[in-house]
Amino acid sequence: MTKRAYNFNAGPAALPLEVLQKAQEEFVDYRGIGMSIMEISHRSSQYEQLNEETQALMKELMGIPDGYKVLFLQGGASTQFAMIPMNFLKPGTVAQYVHTGSWAEKAIKEAKLFGETAIAASSEADKFTRIPDLSDMQLPANSAYVHITSNETIGGAQYRQYPNTGSVPLIGDLSSDILCRPIDVSRFAMIYAGAQKNLGPSGVTVVIIREDMLADIPKNIPTMLSYSTHAKNNSLYNTPPAYSVYMVNLVLHWIKENGGAEAMEKRNKEKTALLYDAIDKSGGFYRGVVEPDSRSIMNVTFRMQDEELEKKFVKESEQQGFVGLKGHRSVGGLRASTYNAVPYEACKALADFMDDFRRRNS
Ligand SMILES: *Cc1c(COP(=O)(O)O)cnc(C)c1O
Repeated sequence: MTKRAYNFNAGPAALPLEVLQKAQEEFVDYRGIGMSIMEISHRSSQYEQLNEETQALMKELMGIPDGYKVLFLQGGASTQFAMIPMNFLKPGTVAQYVHTGSWAEKAIKEAKLFGETAIAASSEADKFTRIPDLSDMQLPANSAYVHITSNETIGGAQYRQYPNTGSVPLIGDLSSDILCRPIDVSRFAMIYAGAQKNLGPSGVTVVIIREDMLADIPKNIPTMLSYSTHAKNNSLYNTPPAYSVYMVNLVLHWIKENGGAEAMEKRNKEKTALLYDAIDKSGGFYRGVVEPDSRSIMNVTFRMQDEELEKKFVKESEQQGFVGLKGHRSVGGLRASTYNAVPYEACKALADFMDDFRRRNS
């Protein structure tokens, strides 16, 4: 048996061992065709079937209602930051953004290149330690859409519930928490997620888009950057990232076999409870970055008294087989990313290490 690390990387991140083994098994001979999936045409019946099946699995696992399309695009979630305003922000309308941290900020920056934007709500004054209350969000009639970041991967704040935006389309960046729990897709006009956190490897971005959003896309945007191109061509306008889509397919099968979104949520809550408990019972030795009611079940962020101690924590954790616990370079501190594929046992081992480290250093 190969020894697997306790992988808490933020992205690209852990993949289920069963998925990696299945991919290995099929690597040189995909389902008996004598070639790998990377070596065949995307116009072949085998790839078309994979494309269809992966869309169907997304619909099934997320409970996507009729009237939505599932697309597989390239360029990462970061390209979506630009495509969204290019496609949906028309002159005379205003794009509304909820500012919750680093990823929301990047989305806002891109939108500003294309038109008028507004901050519908922000937790900047609270240093992004919570998701702002959106129950009384005021949206002018000329709002093009509302954009939210479901889980701030760097800061560690996650929405508990999504806002009701009435007739204004709600667009969600779910890059780091898609399928971590059941959600009501019908609240959204569009959802997007880079695959490399909770869905597979990098290289593909999943877009779930309500068909009415495709009705009025400007004609003067580059072909590859128009949602209508990819919707009309079933994500086969140009060569798709076949291997990444294949890996997403395997991950979706794994989620299904392991009980779907409900079971993922239950396990993610149990996993992160171990870590948040280790923080909360530490008497201030560890300090959670995010307010309890906005704590993420995907990225657990915490700090210690000083940076020297944090460095020591990272170093010792690495010696004991833990990977990826250093916080993002922009914010410092510590972060454990506990995506669907991270086993309970890894979180248990980390919680034990945290207790042990605290006893030895306080
Ligand atoms: C990682 C991440 C992105 C950026 O994804 P890329 O695929 O690297 O462009 C955007 N939004 C969120 C919430 C993320 O976690």
